[in-house]
Amino acid sequence: MAAINIAREHATTVSKGIKPPAPPEALEHLNLRQGEFWRAIPKYEDVDEATFLDHVWQYRNSVKTPEELVETVQDLAPREFVEDLRSGFHRAPMNVRVPPYTMSLIDWSDPYDDPIRTQFIPLASRLLPDHPRLSLDSLHEREDAPVVGLTHRYEDKALFLPTNVCPVYCRFCTRSYAIGGDTETVEKAELATDPKRWQAAFDYVASRPELEDIVISGGDSYQVPAKSLEKIGNALLDIPHVRRLRFATKGIAVIPSKILTDHAWVDALTRVVERGRSMGKDVCVHTHINSPNEITWITQQAMQVLFERGIYVRNQSVLIRGVNDTPETMRLLVKRLGYVNIHPYYVYMHDMVMGVEDLRTTVDTALEIEKFVRGATAGFNTPTFVCDAPGGGGKRDVHSFEYYDRENGIVVYTAPSVKPGQWFLYFDPIDRLAPEAQARWKDPKEQERMATMALKAAGA
Ligand SMILES: *Cc1c(COP(=O)(O)O)cnc(C)c1O
Ligand code: SF4
Repeated sequence: MAAINIAREHATTVSKGIKPPAPPEALEHLNLRQGEFWRAIPKYEDVDEATFLDHVWQYRNSVKTPEELVETVQDLAPREFVEDLRSGFHRAPMNVRVPPYTMSLIDWSDPYDDPIRTQFIPLASRLLPDHPRLSLDSLHEREDAPVVGLTHRYEDKALFLPTNVCPVYCRFCTRSYAIGGDTETVEKAELATDPKRWQAAFDYVASRPELEDIVISGGDSYQVPAKSLEKIGNALLDIPHVRRLRFATKGIAVIPSKILTDHAWVDALTRVVERGRSMGKDVCVHTHINSPNEITWITQQAMQVLFERGIYVRNQSVLIRGVNDTPETMRLLVKRLGYVNIHPYYVYMHDMVMGVEDLRTTVDTALEIEKFVRGATAGFNTPTFVCDAPGGGGKRDVHSFEYYDRENGIVVYTAPSVKPGQWFLYFDPIDRLAPEAQARWKDPKEQERMATMALKAAGA
């Protein structure tokens, strides 16, 4: 009430143009989880703050099997949920690995609809059939790889995968062809940590003067030991034409406290950033936070450490059904990221990967959310919504399609500076289409006809 009265008084002195005070929801992004929230989980009831923040403890206690999960949450989770997750674990293309930090942020009274559970813990009851046009490694990262684990798709930048392990395994991983151990449904390509393979990647980068920008990505920089991290950073900085490095890690989302407790790793990262800066080269960190619930007081403290050291962090989110696919949740995520000094860089359309059709949503949804988010905060903190075009077209602004058949969920992109003359198709999930369109997708002849028509309409 007081705020409103002040606004009214103000209105009489400032005659016009007064903006009404923001509703309380507008400040929701400041409302970070506080205190020892993990103690609500039976297994962590007696865990003190120092132990919980210790990154080694977080790794050791990560949940990898249904048995470990049950032992951790005990009777917090509904009974039918436990059966559901047992069969979900067996049918998933990715391993499961959930650190205690992440386990503690799940609302166990409603795990079915929890955005963090949705990302990391597969449930058999939620699985949908894959789209008929979907394939493993839909981005063709291996086709564009001159050296195993180094993808050179864009002219001046390359993607280097130093390892095949991550601090968490995301159900929706684009690289489910390579990341984690073999599962019952997928045998993984070989991307284990291997200094010889790394050297081959550095040699390739050195041989291509057009490469200015190297992304060191997932498998995750968090899993690269301090010494190796510094070695990789320095080897790439030593190549004269390399101007920019990004260390990508999911870690800030799932074990933010490593930044507070793994001093050797943070110091190694800092030395690479500072050495790069002295050479006029830009070294920064990219992370991957999808839900506003993943950002807590621990994230904020971790980010303060990096911020004080002048280490910039950008975020890449994936638009995931049930996680961040409403305008309000996406706006909250974007504002909360900005609040803790993480720049929201991209929001990706969910890649067309196996076994996670329940997580995808339509391009139309992305367009609607983007419209709502743009204008809600600083322009430089407003992410670009992109679709990484299946077949290796690279990232396209979602809006830049050549044609969109909304009825059948077919989107056509081109990528003139990446693969000139080629056409790329992205498909909305079939269960989101009208019943008539769903019926058409059941018929292989119709599938072919619809794709051909869309390409024709696009001018191919
Ligand atoms: C995403 C990506 C990059 C980096 O692209 P930016 O748009 O600069 O973030 C580089 N190489 C590959 C293969 C990628 O997928
Ligand atoms: S952290 Fe990245 S690379 Fe690792 S499993 Fe998740 S999406 Fe895949």
